[in-house]
Amino acid sequence: MPRVKDNAFIINKTDYGESDIIITLFSLNRGKISCIAKGAKRSRRRFPGSLELFSLVSINGFIKHPLALTRIDECQLLKPYLAIQDELKSYLNGCYFLEIINRCSAERQTNKTLFNLLDDLFTFLSEVPHNRNFNCRIRLFELQIITLLGFKPELSRCLDCGIELHSEHTKGQFFLFSPQAGGLVCNHCRPRHPAAFNVSQGTINLLNQAHKLDNELRNKLNFTPQVETESARLCRALLRWHSGYNFKSLKVLERYVDNDNFFALNRPPTIQPITLNKYGVQQ
Ligand SMILES: [Zn+2]
Repeated sequence: MPRVKDNAFIINKTDYGESDIIITLFSLNRGKISCIAKGAKRSRRRFPGSLELFSLVSINGFIKHPLALTRIDECQLLKPYLAIQDELKSYLNGCYFLEIINRCSAERQTNKTLFNLLDDLFTFLSEVPHNRNFNCRIRLFELQIITLLGFKPELSRCLDCGIELHSEHTKGQFFLFSPQAGGLVCNHCRPRHPAAFNVSQGTINLLNQAHKLDNELRNKLNFTPQVETESARLCRALLRWHSGYNFKSLKVLERYVDNDNFFALNRPPTIQPITLNKYGVQQ
């Protein structure tokens, strides 16, 4: 029986029976793998608090049959990324990215660049209170992840007729993005792409440059609200079309985090300092 020793992120977990847990991992050397951790709910020695979402773990197990779940004997915690769970917008965005990886990456297909990007993403999400350009960085992570999963949008020519698209070909400085084609289409070809929608020239220019940025520049960049909204719409439409799946975590994310009113409504009320007079009576 082939042994499996690898480092991996926990991207999904489900209780199974009284003592087992089924987990989906994204591992360094094998990509996504579905596993069963036998007796994980009972054995603190073999699984010492290590099976939480986002955690980076070192696993030790074996494959009984090529089509069966990988069986994990032992799991050691390397990095817990616990802070992600303390901040609502980090946690909900993190769950959205976990669902993308879980739904859209192929089983047992190595992708070390994506593995390293998840490390960067979870580190970023753990440091959220200190990050000022959160939305912009999230959009850049989203774009990097869909590119690494093979859905990189084509943003320079019409994917239907092949014509090069520059601003002079677009009416009112808007381009047409077709999720079905996976990129831009021209006005002439639009009737064949009913789901196509407008994206501004500024967003297209920025997305075309985004993959050339290094981490230092990514941290300094700040998108306008229009670029943020259009970039999110473009990436999410692309993912939905190609996976054929409506992401559950995205519904929650769009309802709570993308709606600024939620934080306004849930902000704790400002506490006015109580002033007492010399008799100890509140004034
Ligand atoms: Zn065309």
